[in-house]
Amino acid sequence: MTQQEFGKTADGRAASLYTLTNKHGVQVAITNFGGTVVSIKIPDRQGNFVDVTHGYDDVGGYAGGKAYFGATVGRYGNRIAHGEFAIDGVKYTLAKNDGDNTLHGGIIGFNKVFWDAKDVTGSGPASLQLDYLSKDGEEGFPGNLRVRVVFTLTDANELKIVYSATTDKKTVLNLTNHTYFNLAGSGTILDEELTLAADKFTPVDKGLIPTGELRPVAGTAFDFHKPTAIGSRIGNDEEQLKFGHGYDHNWVLDSPGSGKPTLAATVVDPKSGRKLEVWTTEPGIQFYTGNFLDGSIHGKGGTPYVLRSALCLETQHFPDSPNHPSFPTTELLPGAKFTSETIFKFSTQ
Ligand code: BGC
Repeated sequence: MTQQEFGKTADGRAASLYTLTNKHGVQVAITNFGGTVVSIKIPDRQGNFVDVTHGYDDVGGYAGGKAYFGATVGRYGNRIAHGEFAIDGVKYTLAKNDGDNTLHGGIIGFNKVFWDAKDVTGSGPASLQLDYLSKDGEEGFPGNLRVRVVFTLTDANELKIVYSATTDKKTVLNLTNHTYFNLAGSGTILDEELTLAADKFTPVDKGLIPTGELRPVAGTAFDFHKPTAIGSRIGNDEEQLKFGHGYDHNWVLDSPGSGKPTLAATVVDPKSGRKLEVWTTEPGIQFYTGNFLDGSIHGKGGTPYVLRSALCLETQHFPDSPNHPSFPTTELLPGAKFTSETIFKFSTQ
């Protein structure tokens, strides 16, 4: 693992960039600011390496940015309606940053803070450990939450992300990684083919808050049981696609929840042959097609990131779970340890 400077935030704090490399030359770069995956360089079927992620050239872009490129998202990934929820009858009010709602942890989420970084490679594959203490009351959430995220790049071309957390007061928690992928390295993701192991999804209202229903995907543009070009139905006349301005929904994974990661999603870029598999222990996955990208963000090397130039596959508990008792619980109790694992596995076909 190498470590280099990654610029300074406006308040003068220096960020570092850690680069993990495996025996095939695959490289993943991560910064301690926001626990952010800055780049992933993988080969196509001819062996040509390209960076398949959106992001910025230095920490300044991430500190000022609003798109969550590559970020570790928390304390609560996705939306909490009206920035409110209750635990044991006690109401908590959060910082709102998405109209009347709280998105991805609030104004200063885990993506906007410095994490303590440690190289924990030892004799195994390159491995970076990031720790963060989210204080009681931060963004309105209860409990001092100690969070650890360990990123490991294996020789099987897997980026493994292991999350763990403990709290000293009952709280809610939903951690994810918000990498924007484009397996071609440029252009849009509309020709990339997606498979999702999900029979149901959680439909939303206009504000992208789940209604509480678990709706079968059968017969809709949300059925990705068979590999399907992402662009083939994105413009369909379906209310849910209109609400999301494309895909911006949580799929309910079929996985049995054995505690071992199961295959949730596969993306293939037919031209380059690059393939991404997403394995997870989480019960849901947010498939987001970069619907809010409009070319106004200039990222790495000044590249304008246009509409649908990347996709996110955010493994997670369901959005707004604290307000939906029927959804799998996101509560964490003192004395308990939260763990979760997601694997991004890269190959070619
Ligand atoms: C959400 C989108 C949001 C995006 C922010 C996604 O996880 O589902 O609604 O705009 O993150 O980049």
